[in-house]
Amino acid sequence: MGLKIYIDGKLVDEEDAKISVFDHCFLYGDGVFEGIRAYGGKVFRLEEHLDRLYDSARAIALTVPMSSDELARAIEETMRANDLTDAYIRLVVTRGVGDLGLDPRKCLDPSVVIITASIELYPDELYEKGLEVVTAATARIPPEALNPRIKSCNYLNNILAKIEGLNAGCVEAIMLNHLGYVAECTGDNIFCVKDGRVLTPPEEAGILKGITRDVVMDLARAEGLEVAERPLTRYDLYSADEVFLTGTAAEIIAVVKIDGRTIGSGKEGMVTRKLRKGFKELIAGGS
Ligand code: PMP
Repeated sequence: MGLKIYIDGKLVDEEDAKISVFDHCFLYGDGVFEGIRAYGGKVFRLEEHLDRLYDSARAIALTVPMSSDELARAIEETMRANDLTDAYIRLVVTRGVGDLGLDPRKCLDPSVVIITASIELYPDELYEKGLEVVTAATARIPPEALNPRIKSCNYLNNILAKIEGLNAGCVEAIMLNHLGYVAECTGDNIFCVKDGRVLTPPEEAGILKGITRDVVMDLARAEGLEVAERPLTRYDLYSADEVFLTGTAAEIIAVVKIDGRTIGSGKEGMVTRKLRKGFKELIAGGS
């Protein structure tokens, strides 16, 4: 049996889960989304994800046609219909059907789509071994052009960098901002550890403010580690003791090689391991 997909208040079979070709989300990437996880039947950091969705929508002058309580109920309903307790949840709000012009005022009915699926994770051994990544030549879009804090349905900037990573045999790629500072990866935030300090680029570097990033900063502080958000260069990453990525799908994963340079010991470092353990405990504890 296929998946049940939520579209505008109805649960439909995946074969029938269709959006108009005149929806501006299809024509122009005009929409916003969230990627969320559920562990053991509980949606992880739901409030934070919904807040970010509404903020993204406000930033593009899109009115989400449902309240956050209604969205939360719809997510639960969709998970139940698919008999899922551990799930990856994709929540999309489109601009809606308009004409072939850009004018969003002609799109009167935004659509809400919820897809819940079981998640395909990186294999376990990759978490032990760590990832190799490269720096993409494609810069992250400057915040003045399109703020990366907006989680919009236009991910071409990230996809172009992802293609560069894949061409180099890597599943992730580091994106620098227009000033040459480290921003983030194509679908993950980035951290490094130097002399026991946990460092990550600040929001002003032009990044998506990751929810896992916030959780990990809290975890690190709770472990007694010093955490700082500060501009990072590639030199900082190359010379770091540890580098790791954070994201809803990947959770926390070590990076052991960047642009052909071995990072630290070339294996998952102690701090990364500790944070990964802390994160696992957090999700197992249902918070
Ligand atoms: N940066 C980008 C560009 C992303 O797409 C994601 C995944 N949503 C992240 C960072 C990580 O954010 P989060 O921890 O909220 O999943």
